[in-house]
Amino acid sequence: MDIILLGPPGAGKGTQAKRLEEGRGMIQLSTGDMLRSAREAGTPVGLRVRAVMDRGELVSDAIVSALIGEHLDLGGATGAIFDGYPRTQPQAEALEILLEERGRKIDHVVELVVDEEELVTRITGRFTCAKCKAPYHDELHQPKVTGVCDICGGTEFRRRPDDNEQTVRTRMAEYREKTAPILPFYEAKGLVRRVDGMASVEQVAAAIDAFLDS
Ligand SMILES: [Zn+2]
Repeated sequence: MDIILLGPPGAGKGTQAKRLEEGRGMIQLSTGDMLRSAREAGTPVGLRVRAVMDRGELVSDAIVSALIGEHLDLGGATGAIFDGYPRTQPQAEALEILLEERGRKIDHVVELVVDEEELVTRITGRFTCAKCKAPYHDELHQPKVTGVCDICGGTEFRRRPDDNEQTVRTRMAEYREKTAPILPFYEAKGLVRRVDGMASVEQVAAAIDAFLDS
């Protein structure tokens, strides 16, 4: 089974992809990771990627598709989870051909849907214990004793500098602009399944499983 997993940063895509890898033996194909490793490995496609990136340009549809093609053979895995790809209609059409050549197709396009305002609240309020990394939140999950970690008793906490409203809104805008436009292509094929990305990790997992098993 091959699926595309879509959702803005903060929707829990990484967590769900990892669970599908561990639970179903699928393999996550992240174009971000692929571009980085191709650059380093110096494969023919990798050398082209490096040249383009060194010029500060965006990697073309053709190169990204060639790179995906290099990684499509599953080995022992039961299917692929595409992450960050396809982003354009030419990429989606190329992927269709690459999969067809291998007797495969996209079975589901799972979109984790988030509420932007709620996402802003969740992300901007989070902080972690500096010592044991236990997660907390200003509104949703304060330590029982203010300023003291429930788990280890630590009194120092950290916030990630990019956990701020502007960053969240910029990422949402990027998602709408760069990734979401591919949805109509798959909607026309009846493949898009929407999951409430604001639900708990377990609920999101159960909803994805229900689609994949249907
Ligand atoms: Zn702690």
